[in-house]
Amino acid sequence: MIIEAHDITKEYGDQRVLDGVSLAVEEGEVLGIIGPSGSGKSTFLRILDLIEAPTSGELSLFGEDVLSMQNRWLEIRRRMGMLFQKPIVFNASVYDNVAMGMRYRSENRAEIDRRVQETLEAVGLSRYIKSSARDLSGGEQQRVALSRVIVTEPEILFLDEPTANLDPASTATIEEMVLRLNRERGTTIVVNTHDMLQGQRLSQRVGVMIAGDIMQVGKPKEVFNNPANLQIARFVGVDN
Ligand code: ADP
Ligand code: MG
Repeated sequence: MIIEAHDITKEYGDQRVLDGVSLAVEEGEVLGIIGPSGSGKSTFLRILDLIEAPTSGELSLFGEDVLSMQNRWLEIRRRMGMLFQKPIVFNASVYDNVAMGMRYRSENRAEIDRRVQETLEAVGLSRYIKSSARDLSGGEQQRVALSRVIVTEPEILFLDEPTANLDPASTATIEEMVLRLNRERGTTIVVNTHDMLQGQRLSQRVGVMIAGDIMQVGKPKEVFNNPANLQIARFVGVDN
């Protein structure tokens, strides 16, 4: 297991947002976290990506218990990447936006150029390499943001509702890239989505997050055909 979360809770003030979440993710799998808006999916992903600490619980990443060693979080985070719902692009060229992901690393200029170009080709944006990233459409900006993450070759990739509000073409490109990264590089992927169908298209297993807890984990078809409780049945029914 590359990720093992056990009994994770998160409280903001007196609001309990995560209520004892446990989840194990196998190396090389694509796992979807589906669930309604406000159920705690983004919070859980930020904890797995070591952006914030849980209130309590245990978390192991790459086989190491990480919550007791915050001094190593930066190092561990470099083996992971996160794509947020809202595309983050900087006021710079598309090239610079993507190359930025590799700046802390030791690659030389020619290697950076090669990988940036190859990645932009894969997401269908090579013709915009010199354009200002802020001039692109929302879907194109999200493809730039994805390129910046994957150019660093993360071992684990987290995607937080990566295609919410995007045009169908960008959505398709992003889904294709996710599947390809998993197939070709064996990248472990955890993807949040409130779209049950996207969860089915991308994931080998899905976990259903409702009211701060993952209540069922299984193959998309199993969850769909045999929801474990009424709340899950409502979610998979209503959302389709
Ligand atoms: P989801 O991604 O499933 O929509 P979130 O994890 O974003 O759910 O949010 C779950 C709940 O936690 C919501 O009620 C939200 O308002 C609350 N929440 C999330 N982040 C914070 C924060 N930084 N401070 C206070 N409340 C938060
Ligand atoms: Mg969210």
